Amino acid sequence: MKAMVLNKICNLEENKNPLEIANLPDPVPGEKEILVRVTACGVCHTELDEIEGRTPPPKFPVVLGHEVVGRVEETGSKADKFKIGDRVGIGWIYSACGGCKFCLKGDENLCENFKATGRDANGGYAEYTIVLEDFAYKIPDLFSDSEAAPLLCAGAIGYRSLRLTGIKDGQNLGLTGFGASAHLVLKMARHKYPKSNVFVFARSEKERDFAKELGAVWAGGTEEESPEKLDCMIDTTPAWKPIVEALKNLEGGGRLVINAIRKEDRDKEYLVKLDYPTHLWLEKEIKSVANVTRRDISEFLELAGQIPIKPEVEEFTLEDANKALVELKERKIRGAKVLRINL
Ligand SMILES: [Zn+2]
Ligand SMILES: [Zn+2]
Repeated sequence: MKAMVLNKICNLEENKNPLEIANLPDPVPGEKEILVRVTACGVCHTELDEIEGRTPPPKFPVVLGHEVVGRVEETGSKADKFKIGDRVGIGWIYSACGGCKFCLKGDENLCENFKATGRDANGGYAEYTIVLEDFAYKIPDLFSDSEAAPLLCAGAIGYRSLRLTGIKDGQNLGLTGFGASAHLVLKMARHKYPKSNVFVFARSEKERDFAKELGAVWAGGTEEESPEKLDCMIDTTPAWKPIVEALKNLEGGGRLVINAIRKEDRDKEYLVKLDYPTHLWLEKEIKSVANVTRRDISEFLELAGQIPIKPEVEEFTLEDANKALVELKERKIRGAKVLRINL
């Protein structure tokens, strides 16, 4: 099969073609696994973290991609949840141990043996991939393959982040950073918490305009002061400045949720600007969001179908994966980038 593979960690500023096209043997599903013929795979910021070594794959070559949509091509001898031809999705959670204290209470995202699709196992930047049937999801019919792909990560993690903020209807929500995940959170928040106002902080004017188009009551630059204090906030940026700047807008007792698998070190020195009375005093909280559980993905897909949340997508071919990744790195973003495969 054709795949775009990562052979080593590299710096995307020096190497604009980190992935190489390769011919790999077709994967063979194990007993409880399914073989999926990939039709769409979302391009996520986490791929940049993998390529640049902030969350390095344990072995190379590896096929990245964890927002995978496709059709079941073959089922393992003991796999019976799906039929051949069924449309399925695969997200960031590839597997978890199932027996530890975290897994037993449903917090499989915190499992020490958490395995990620497209990092610890080959993912969706390829014509085929395999997954345990218990870690694949049915996709609501109203979504096209491309629309469904970003829901599997950006959407599901956004859903988890929104849940972790503890927001109640009517409370002000702030979003700092306005990429794939945040634009879905905004749509979700408007549906689940119609009395809440959403305030968006974004670097580029294009992103701010996009936020207002989608219903943000206010959109400003990263450093700006919001017109009202915010009860909860979600940060979806790779940087530190937005966190420090966000905290000054947080209401007493408010919570900032950091939705990022890794932060880049580039502007880490900004943290010395952290001023206790301005940024943390008054019981302000900071919480990170780690991975996703299967429950997050299933619940979010259902919610996305009800609302409905249709992500804005921009399509690329499999061979253009590097172009999509570099554009993401350079923040040329409007909605979510998706690779179309096997067309
Ligand atoms: Zn992702
Ligand atoms: Zn576990």
